[in-house]
Amino acid sequence: MGKSTAVKRDVYFRAAKEEGYRARSAYKLLQLAEQFQLWDSVERCVDLCAAPGSWSQVLSQKLKAEVPAADGSAKIVAVDLQPMAPLPGVVQIEGDITKPSTAEQIISHFKGRRADLVVCDGAPDVTGLHDLDEFVQAQLLLAATNITLQVLRPGGTFVAKIFRGRDIGLLYDQLRCFFDRVTCAKPRSSRNSSMEAFVVCEGYREQPDTPDLTKPLLDFVDISDYATPTADKRLNRLKGSIRVIAPFVACGDLSGFDAEMHAPLLPKDSAKDAPPAPAYREFLELRRASALAANAPQP
Ligand code: SAM
Repeated sequence: MGKSTAVKRDVYFRAAKEEGYRARSAYKLLQLAEQFQLWDSVERCVDLCAAPGSWSQVLSQKLKAEVPAADGSAKIVAVDLQPMAPLPGVVQIEGDITKPSTAEQIISHFKGRRADLVVCDGAPDVTGLHDLDEFVQAQLLLAATNITLQVLRPGGTFVAKIFRGRDIGLLYDQLRCFFDRVTCAKPRSSRNSSMEAFVVCEGYREQPDTPDLTKPLLDFVDISDYATPTADKRLNRLKGSIRVIAPFVACGDLSGFDAEMHAPLLPKDSAKDAPPAPAYREFLELRRASALAANAPQP
């Protein structure tokens, strides 16, 4: 199905078309990177939930991925359930980020080394049932966090999409157990009307018994299991955390375009780039004509 006129007039949608990005979300990563200097000392990076690949395009350009690493290992590994068109220097894994084997595949492409940066723009298919969508998104983020704790080097950075729902405070608490700084950031290109934001977690602190996909963070623990030493230990991990209120930062050029801003309407006589007529225009004209005919005075 074609894009709506509102989407076509979106400034970031147009900019992405002009600059050859596969999706407007490229600008979210660019604005986050500018605010948090994400590219500093990054040699290896993982793009979780990468398709169609606009974040991988940005990473490939910024990390000069077309120049291979000296030891032949990958610089950028992109993972998604769906395949995507190839990009210079980006190794693709068609896989599920909730599976432990995916983490192993990522590390194998880095020849056993860990990533300096992990980004995740994951979003499940939306059902329209608000509570269910929020739950599935939270599960995806949990999977991204678990995989990140396994593939990120100490001191590294994790950036992930979140929806600022009711339980977001708990997520900040959990992330603060493993990272020195956790910030909630809203790039200018992310629509104000959307609950979407990004957590930027800096300074990864690996700890003994760090969760991963085989012993995940906040995995469901059967209540009868609580007495077992392992479950007890796992729950205890979260006891020491203090309530964290993550600072909120708006990023991107604040005097520039915001995501609700539309490109100007073209003059009426301008055929070039004009929004196409809706497919149902002919139907509307016919209906109008028959309504007029029905209301016309009878001879
Ligand atoms: N960052 C991408 C870009 O700039 O082109 C856009 C990502 S898109 C919003 C969300 C992606 O998450 C979809 O391509 C979807 O296939 C992927 N996804 C959802 N669940 C996933 C899972 N369990 N494992 C891997 N990818 C997943």
